[in-house]
Amino acid sequence: MTLPRVILRRGRERSLRQRHPWLFSGAVGRVEDTAVDGSAVDVLDADHRFIARGVLNTRSQIVVRVLTWDPDEVADASLWRRRLVRAIGARAGLAADPATSAYRLVHAEADGLPGLIVDRYGDWVVVQALSLAAELALPDVVGLLAEQVEPLGVVNRSEDEVRLKEGLEPTSGPLWGRPCPDRIEVLENGFTFRVDLAAGHKTGFYLDQRDNRRAVGSRCDGASVLNAFSYTGAFSVYAASAGASALVELEASHAALALARENHALNGLDVPCEQVAADAFAALRQMRDSRRQFDVVVLDPPKFAPSRARLEGALRGYKDINLLGIKLVRPGGLLATFSCSGAVSPELFQTVVFQASVDAGREVRALAVLGQGEDHPVLLSFPESRYLKGLLCRVD
Ligand code: SAH
Repeated sequence: MTLPRVILRRGRERSLRQRHPWLFSGAVGRVEDTAVDGSAVDVLDADHRFIARGVLNTRSQIVVRVLTWDPDEVADASLWRRRLVRAIGARAGLAADPATSAYRLVHAEADGLPGLIVDRYGDWVVVQALSLAAELALPDVVGLLAEQVEPLGVVNRSEDEVRLKEGLEPTSGPLWGRPCPDRIEVLENGFTFRVDLAAGHKTGFYLDQRDNRRAVGSRCDGASVLNAFSYTGAFSVYAASAGASALVELEASHAALALARENHALNGLDVPCEQVAADAFAALRQMRDSRRQFDVVVLDPPKFAPSRARLEGALRGYKDINLLGIKLVRPGGLLATFSCSGAVSPELFQTVVFQASVDAGREVRALAVLGQGEDHPVLLSFPESRYLKGLLCRVD
């Protein structure tokens, strides 16, 4: 069966040939009339040689999301099934770990499933469809998840604003099985966390920080810890359990702080914890002015750069909080600093932290370079999939 075709402008095939899975509108010469948004198309170079096959969306800057580079692979529900089974299989190690029940099952493009996020929270599965391709595949995907994962229910949290760029409205709600309770409990590295799957950030929890919480937490024995942008207190729970002597949680969301208190209690922790419900920029400045010092400072801000267009302002934001954060570390203490903006490369992030260290007049050594957990794999042909970057630093 021949598919409708998208013909590239001459000389614009390089990135697709290198298996970057997005075809941007600027590279498109012609879209055949028979091609409709949401259907499979073949992408050909200017000499009409096959390059890739994917799903068309002319309403998006990303006109085609590639599903395969194999001219013989049919882009239908069976492809989504194969990829989904492969992605689930790749998490077998986590699935077998009795200490962890919450992890990512599908990491979108990096698992060959463009725009599809699937996170497992114990007996519940949460999906996000962030592309038209994923949205149209969702009914099949949900059926497959029910069959492969056997959850109690599947919940939709497709609320991210990136959907608007795909011509899709944000949406959420139950998709399959039993309706999910308001709060559920999951395990991560043996710790219990209460998660709000209906209204929590992302799909409910920052699953990508699992390994980093362990790495940072394990260095907190006897330490006073500032957990800035603490959300529901996950870094604090690890730090407290490792023997932290005192905690400060700084977070703008009252709901997140309330859940953090529950999470401390759920894990039987009674380390003194001061919660500061405030804008972190203002609160960090205030702490600097009152010359507070901590043994460990964690900075895990939200995505300041949702797109490349917002990069410059975002870099100023990262520089500001890192400058403040560095000043709050007592000499010889630790700074764990993160950025989850895909538009900020690891090199750029390190440069920003370096510049902050210069302005702070402090010497900063990275002891470890941190990233996202292995259930959030980085597809090398798609550098955007490496979005979470962290530096664990000693500050002298
Ligand atoms: N470290 C957390 C995840 C942090 S996500 C964890 O391990 O779970 C970023 C958090 O920053 C969110 O909870 C968000 O509510 C909060 N936030 C965003 N902007 C903020 C601001 N200006 N001041 C304080 N908190 C902010």
